[in-house]
Amino acid sequence: MLQHKIWDPQWECADRETIRRTQLARLQETVAYAYDRVPYYKAKFDAAGVLPADIRCLEDIRLLPFTTKQDFRDTYPFGLFAVPPAELIRIHSSSGTTGKPTVVGYTKHDLDTWVEILARMVSQAGVTDRDIAQISFGYGMFTGGFGLHYGLERVGATVVPVSSGNTDRQLMFMVDFQSTVLISTPSYAAYLAEQVKDRGLKLGEDIVLKWGLFGAEPWTEGMRQRIQTSLGLSATDNYGMSELCGPGVSGECEIAKSGMHIAEDLFIWEVLDPITREPVPEGETGELVVTPLWKEALPVIRYRTRDLTSVTLEPCRCGRTTARMSRVKGRTDDMLIIRGVNVFPTQVEHVLMETEGTSPHYLLVVTREGSLDTLEVWVEVSEKMFSERIGKMHELQALLSKKIHTILGLSAKIKLVEPQTLERSQGKAKRVLDKRNLE
Ligand code: ADP
Ligand code: ZN
Repeated sequence: MLQHKIWDPQWECADRETIRRTQLARLQETVAYAYDRVPYYKAKFDAAGVLPADIRCLEDIRLLPFTTKQDFRDTYPFGLFAVPPAELIRIHSSSGTTGKPTVVGYTKHDLDTWVEILARMVSQAGVTDRDIAQISFGYGMFTGGFGLHYGLERVGATVVPVSSGNTDRQLMFMVDFQSTVLISTPSYAAYLAEQVKDRGLKLGEDIVLKWGLFGAEPWTEGMRQRIQTSLGLSATDNYGMSELCGPGVSGECEIAKSGMHIAEDLFIWEVLDPITREPVPEGETGELVVTPLWKEALPVIRYRTRDLTSVTLEPCRCGRTTARMSRVKGRTDDMLIIRGVNVFPTQVEHVLMETEGTSPHYLLVVTREGSLDTLEVWVEVSEKMFSERIGKMHELQALLSKKIHTILGLSAKIKLVEPQTLERSQGKAKRVLDKRNLE
């Protein structure tokens, strides 16, 4: 079997004892640094009655107050920073999916570390210095484009910074340069795959992609299978968020594709029950809370990501010893409550992707009729299904309706729509139209 290079074996393969010892030392430094340098943190720690000297073992992290998106908003733009703006060499911001964007900044030292983290991440996804990597993440304030850009350069790959949008040009370069790596959101990869097919481009000839590094939004195993087949590549998931640095917090190895390795020498992870905020047992799902251990410009203590995942410490086949987090099911605020039932779009995607005759383009539409909430699932059918007799479509509709009812415990109206009718996204896909908020 092809063995990919481990970029930094010292840390990626460190034993647990070394990881824990390093985490504790760096946590103590980080907490003291935040307390001394950022008045906002000092005030929060004082209010919680905790001093940096109280952190004597790793478990003491639980004495520290959380940081949330609201803290970033309250201190907009630079109130959480530990250095004056002149010491920053880059500023980014979050995409602002759920409100006013949060602002983040990097010193030279921060950027160096972040680039190393990304070099590890792209290496474990299979990328080497022989690859031609097309970055179809947006460049700009979003951390995705620039983040991957420098990580890929550090491993020596040839970077094609095409950015998001302009699909004609994307595909022209992909064919003409013979790009071997695609960096994008999974939903945009699914769209590109559709375009490849429509234009009659041949896999293995026109399109020679080997690796797809996808992230920035939730997706399912079924979606991975579809993208892999339709683009002829091997796809891995990677996770991050601006508040913690951007992409690179964790990523899958291409060998096992079984959970995203967390760079544990640089991040402490916790998985907490979102209500009680107590740690859940290993392997169980909860809210991911992360403390980066390396940030000079913007220390962040116990950041509540609102993303739901689980983490395992079981050793991985690839040889790395770091903890692995499961696919993110969604953020707690992506969760829809429909007639008292909790619904994540990824649950619906799971059903759609395992059912033949559907395409990867779908939308959940929630409306209120009188006092009753209704869920409609709009999904484009495949070209093949569309040309079938009407009876076949009815069978598909009934099948989806039954499966969705089983998985959600809620009935949903299935609306099969013609291919090419739902809006395509160039970045993060919008999977939900909640009309209840508009009425
Ligand atoms: P915003 O919070 O405005 O969307 P970011 O661009 O920083 O800004 O997005 C970070 C969020 O994107 C994460 O909190 C998570 O919800 C989502 N995300 C990132 N990568 C993944 C992934 N691989 N799987 C699922 N969700 C992801
Ligand atoms: Zn692995």
